[in-house]
Amino acid sequence: MSIIIITAMQEEYDAIQSVLEWDEESGDHSFNGQRVIICKSGIGKVNAAQHLADAVIKEKMISTVDLVINTGVAGNLSRDQNIGDIVLGTECFHHDVDATGFGYEKFQVPGMPASYKADPGLVRRTLELSEGMNVRVYAGPIATGDQFIHSHIGKERINLNKPDARCVEMESAAFAQVCYNFKIKFLAIRSISDDADGKAPTNFNEFLKEASLNAAELVKRLVIDIISPQLKKEGA
Ligand code: SAH
Repeated sequence: MSIIIITAMQEEYDAIQSVLEWDEESGDHSFNGQRVIICKSGIGKVNAAQHLADAVIKEKMISTVDLVINTGVAGNLSRDQNIGDIVLGTECFHHDVDATGFGYEKFQVPGMPASYKADPGLVRRTLELSEGMNVRVYAGPIATGDQFIHSHIGKERINLNKPDARCVEMESAAFAQVCYNFKIKFLAIRSISDDADGKAPTNFNEFLKEASLNAAELVKRLVIDIISPQLKKEGA
């Protein structure tokens, strides 16, 4: 049984490594048969898909992959959230896809679902595990596209078609699509680094580290929750 934790950027990777306090040199950990792999894809949908598919194929030679978790930062699309808050992706969709000319739903890749849904039980459990954290945690749709959104027009274009989208970033729907194809559960856990407005490039740089650590903290809680039966067995 394996869990793959994937990040886009080095800063996000460093955050999960430091929060987990496992062997810093290695992205590969084993707890009585439960493996946890930490890897980095690079930015954008193609890098996301390529690196996750590579990681899954490699891991499948050793073990079954049960879950992929993405941890990282995102731009805010919702008025009730602030920088540092966390969004759990109940579904991820490609905000830069449009095949409506053929009757597909907005954002739907032909032949694929309109969005990639997370397991509701996993979302519920992660919300429970977030209790006591000093940031707010929301669950809702995550928009993905090969664009860094830094204007109200960019935000409105997404929210017009998907008013409940909570945040925007550049990888989750690609990770989710790869997981859909491999029939693996997927959950994106993103913390808000910026408001996807004119100040986004500055705010992103300022809050990247802090937001990465917030998301990583919740990923840690989830991973420990999943592997703790294994840890108990190990100790026994
Ligand atoms: N400064 C970086 C580029 C960062 S791109 C460089 O020069 O290398 C932004 C990254 O953070 C992406 O991985 C994306 O998933 C996420 N992100 C955060 N805020 C975003 C926003 N407003 N729009 C899109 N992606 C955002």
